[in-house]
Amino acid sequence: MIGDTETLDRIHRDADRVVLCRCGGAGRVVHAPVHGPGEPEEYVRAAFVCTWDRPGPHEPILPPRRS
Ligand SMILES: [Zn+2]
Repeated sequence: MIGDTETLDRIHRDADRVVLCRCGGAGRVVHAPVHGPGEPEEYVRAAFVCTWDRPGPHEPILPPRRS
């Protein structure tokens, strides 16, 4: 989604659950695991859900990327 292919480990995934939305509210990010069996945990953003009853656009404002 949203062209973001950055992978997150479990710690960063948990910190990435709630992000600000462009509508001025905040939404919830759903992550999908992309690691195989026995590999370190890696997740990517799979979906974004904003439930605020406001005019859109309902898109996540991405936090600064990790360096
Ligand atoms: Zn929104």
